[in-house]
Amino acid sequence: MTNRPDFSLEDELEATADWDDAEDSWESGYADEPDPEDNEQELTTGEQDLAERYLLRRVAGLSTELHDITEVEYRQLRLERVVLVGVWTGGTVADAENSMAELALLAETAGSEVLDAIYQRRSSPDPATYIGRGKVEGLGEIVAASGADTVICDGELAPSQLRNLEDRLKVKVVDRTALILDIFAQHAKSKEGQAQVELAQLNYLKQRLRGWGGNLSRQVGGRAGAGGVGIGGRGPGETKIETDRRRINSRIAKLRRELSEMKGTRDTKRQERRRHQVPSVAIAGYTNAGKSSLLNRVTDAGVLIEDALFATLDPTTRRTTAGDGRIYTVTDTVGFVRHLPHQLVEAFRSTLEEVADADLIVHVVDGSHPDPEGQITAVREVFAEIGADKVPELVVINKADAADPMVIARLKQREPHSVVVSARTGAGIDDLLRTIEGELPRPGVEFSALLPYERGDLLNKVHQNADIESLEHTGDGTRVSGRAHADLAGELAPYAV
Ligand code: GDP
Ligand code: MG
Repeated sequence: MTNRPDFSLEDELEATADWDDAEDSWESGYADEPDPEDNEQELTTGEQDLAERYLLRRVAGLSTELHDITEVEYRQLRLERVVLVGVWTGGTVADAENSMAELALLAETAGSEVLDAIYQRRSSPDPATYIGRGKVEGLGEIVAASGADTVICDGELAPSQLRNLEDRLKVKVVDRTALILDIFAQHAKSKEGQAQVELAQLNYLKQRLRGWGGNLSRQVGGRAGAGGVGIGGRGPGETKIETDRRRINSRIAKLRRELSEMKGTRDTKRQERRRHQVPSVAIAGYTNAGKSSLLNRVTDAGVLIEDALFATLDPTTRRTTAGDGRIYTVTDTVGFVRHLPHQLVEAFRSTLEEVADADLIVHVVDGSHPDPEGQITAVREVFAEIGADKVPELVVINKADAADPMVIARLKQREPHSVVVSARTGAGIDDLLRTIEGELPRPGVEFSALLPYERGDLLNKVHQNADIESLEHTGDGTRVSGRAHADLAGELAPYAV
C-alpha cells in the first residue's frame, strides 16, 4: 500500500490505552477523514453512512474492488466478494493494520475480491460471535450494502462462533486458518504437497465436525433422558456425522501411510546428498520475502515467482557451484506466515525438515515490509518448532531497491550477521554468494596427491567436492593438495605423495 496516512498522536495514545472500557467500539488505524472522492457521491446506504451509524471504522485502501465495469462483470463470475473482519486486542495501531493488510493479501491470493476491511477494538474476541454481539448487526448491514458473499475473520474461530456468525449474517463465514488451507490447496503441485494439504484440511474439518456432533448429542441426550430413546433414536444428523467422521478418519490414515512412503523417498535422497557430503543451503523466510526470486538469482532455477502469498509450496532443490568450483545445493522452501495453522506445520513437517537438516539457513527478510522484525520473529518461532534453531543462520535483507534505507540500517544493527541484497536488481548478490560459500562446512581430511592424467574423473571430483589449496600440472600428472571429506580422501589415498 502506498497512500498510507500518517498516524496522529491521538492514534498512538489510543493504541496504548486500556481496552477494557472500549468493549464494543470499532476502530481503524487509518485516518478518520472521509475520502474526498467519496464525498462527491450521494451515499444513502453507502459504506460511509453505515460506518458512521455504527461507529465502524475501516482499514483504508484495502479494497480491491474493480472500477472497470467489464472487468468487474468478468471477475464476479469466479471471485468471492469478501469483507474482512478483525478483532484488535492489543499492540499498536500499526500491528492491527499489518495483520489486516496481510489478511487482505491472503484473501486476494485465494482469488477473492476484498470489498471492505474493518476491525473492532476489544479486550478479547467474543466467545459466541468473535466480534461483539452488538456489532454483528452493523457488520450484517455492511455485508448487505457491499454485496459480499463471504466474511473472513482474522483468527482461528471456534466452530460455534462461525456458525453463530453465519446464522446472523446469512453469508459464508470463514476464518484465517481455512483461508490459508484453501490457498495451500490451490498451490500444492507435487503429490506430496497435495497429500500434506489434504491431511491438514481433513484435520481441520474433523475438529469442526466434532463441534457439530457435540451440539447434537447434547440435544439428543436431553430427549433421550425424557423419552428413553436409545442409540436407535439418534437424529439423522448425528448418524451422518458419524459416517463422515469415519470416512475422514480412514482417508486420514491412508494419507498418513502414503506420506510416510514419500518421506522415505525424500529421506533417501537427502542421505544420498549427505553421503556425498554435498553441503546444503535452505532458503527460508516469511512468505513473499523474495525466496524464490533469490533462488533464481543464485542458481537460475526458474522457480515460479508471484506477488502472492505462497506462490511456492513444494521445495525446489538446485545444485549450484561455488566460486572455487565446489558443488552445493540450494533449496527454496514454503513461505512462513504469522499464525501458520498448526495443522499445516504438522502436515508440512517433512518439507520443513529440509530446513532443519540444512548446513546453512538463508533467512530472507523483506526489507520493504512495514514490519520486518515481526516477520523475523514469526519465522524463528517456526524454526524452533521444527528443530531448525540449531542450524547456522544467515539473514538476508532483501528488496533493498524498494526498502527505506533507515529501516535497512535498523535491521542491520539488530541482525549483525546479515547481507543486504536486491534479488530484483542483483545488488549485493556477489557479496551474498561469497558469504554463503564462506560458511559452507569445510571438508575435514587433508590430502596431497599426484593424479595420473587418465584419472580425469577423480580430478573432476576433487574440483567439485574438495577444498583445493594448490594444483599444478606436471609431466607425471596433476599434483593437487587440499582438504576433502573422508570418502574422497580414501579414493585419493592410492595416489598420495
Ligand atoms: P517468496 O514468496 O519468498 O518466494 O517470494 P517471491 O520470490 O515469489 O517474490 C515475491 C514478490 O516480491 C514478487 O513480486 C517479486 O517480484 C518481489 N521481489 C522479490 N525480490 C525483490 C527485490 O529485491 N526487490 C523488489 N522490489 N521486489 C522483489
Ligand atoms: Mg516462493
